[in-house]
Amino acid sequence: MEEDVHVLIIDDSQAIREFVLQAFADRGGYTVREAHNGAEGLQMALDDPPDLILLDFEMPRMDGSQVVDALNEHQVDVPVILITSHGSEAIAVDFFRKGVKDYMSKPFTAEEMYVAVERALTDVRLRREKEILTQNLALANEELHRRVRELDALYGVGKSVTSLLSREQLLERILDAVFYVIGAEEASLMLVDESGRLRPAVHRQRVPGEAHHTAHRAAEELAADAVRKRDATASGSMLYAPLKVGERVVGAIGLGNPVSGRPFASHNRQLLLALADYAAIAIENARLYEEVRQADQAKSEFVSFVAHELGTPLTSIRGYTDVLLRGLSDPLTPQQQQFISVVHSNVERMQILLSDLRDISRIETGHMKLNTEPTPLTDALKDALEATRGQIEARAQELTLEIPENLPKVSADPARLTQILINLISNAYKYTPEGGRIRVQASHQNGYVRCDVSDTGIGISPEDQEHLFTKFFRSEDPAVRENQGTGLGLCIVKSLVELQGGRIEVESQIGEGTTFGFTMPIAA
Ligand code: ADP
Repeated sequence: MEEDVHVLIIDDSQAIREFVLQAFADRGGYTVREAHNGAEGLQMALDDPPDLILLDFEMPRMDGSQVVDALNEHQVDVPVILITSHGSEAIAVDFFRKGVKDYMSKPFTAEEMYVAVERALTDVRLRREKEILTQNLALANEELHRRVRELDALYGVGKSVTSLLSREQLLERILDAVFYVIGAEEASLMLVDESGRLRPAVHRQRVPGEAHHTAHRAAEELAADAVRKRDATASGSMLYAPLKVGERVVGAIGLGNPVSGRPFASHNRQLLLALADYAAIAIENARLYEEVRQADQAKSEFVSFVAHELGTPLTSIRGYTDVLLRGLSDPLTPQQQQFISVVHSNVERMQILLSDLRDISRIETGHMKLNTEPTPLTDALKDALEATRGQIEARAQELTLEIPENLPKVSADPARLTQILINLISNAYKYTPEGGRIRVQASHQNGYVRCDVSDTGIGISPEDQEHLFTKFFRSEDPAVRENQGTGLGLCIVKSLVELQGGRIEVESQIGEGTTFGFTMPIAA
């Protein structure tokens, strides 16, 4: 409902005052105060400024003119309607200059008075409307601000869902968000343990050290209630919401105002439910991630165990086949010789596979040990070529080396550097037809030695390039499949390069050839 208009009538004539009071009372919507003389009227206007003043011009002692002057002096900005006697209209001009809004000559009718008053009040009404609008705008703005903050915090929690933080960090982050958005005095998060019981996980108070008033028992009961009902549950100054993942409830998140005892608004309940949804997903995500990590670890340990256990008998089989092939026992028939050769080469393949598997599991479990020392690339290259030259020659491939004389030593594990080179050179001859060319180049740039192994082989399609360096990837190309391989080499090479502070990249054109280039930091 609209507020009454406050009118002050300042007139020494009781008849006029009564007339005015009565007229406004008849009309309704006005609260009228009366002053019997100028001084009294001025005081009333100063103490509690009305919306409008009806001011008699002719009054003993302090007349209308003096009242207007005093109002102006005190910067009271209230519209004034002057009541003049018949014939004194001329002085009205002077009053208008002083800011008087209008005048009425005695005698005037109630109707004339309403018209004059309403006209003078237009400004007041407009100003009031503007004030209300401004106030509403400020409120809307504040509300908007709050919503933005809420959305911000919800977004933050949402992001945690995908950013795979540790569970402890995650729970802290969730409580931060709850504090930030809802502004409770304390917040806590409980998780359901294996036996299905709710256990406190994190607790926070807004003011650290402040006495913790919420009764534990009451909070636990409320949390259990929220879990049972699968909905937000409030009691006094506490509010709890369940953490739901599909059909399961994994915990509860709660708020309390133990100091002020203030209850939570229904709006906060919705907000807590939204936060709880995000939190539940995030917690579940972190749990699954941990499970996957543990499974991965278990798998790596298993692979490492199997590789080790198979390694010993294989070494023994290989030793005996060596003895047999070299004719150190009884001479073999040509057929026996052929059979034993097949066994020997298959054992060799299995040994390579086991060695690769052992490397992968070491890399994945973070147990790859590197004996880093200043190493000349040329030494490692010499060893690598010793191991591969036979195969290159057997394929009638041409090998060129472009290694500058004064190449600085790199910081690397010599055996692992040799392994990188053997892998890349083996791939180069394996995936290059007979008579092709292989080139190994090295250069020195920006604190690194860069080494490129190029071939004029079958090349790698852009689709296959996307999967290079991943475990067990081998191209479907029959030209690849006719060669033996595990699909582990490049994955190991990449890890070995990166573990030693370098980078590896590939450039390839199908049917033209491939270049693998890697860097190693120069030794200090
Ligand atoms: P493997 O050689 O045992 O298959 P790698 O991890 O060394 O495993 O290589 C993975 C795959 O990358 C190969 O199977 C092949 O498809 C492709 N590849 C690697 N090097 C080359 C190369 N120089 N030329 C063409 N393809 C290559």
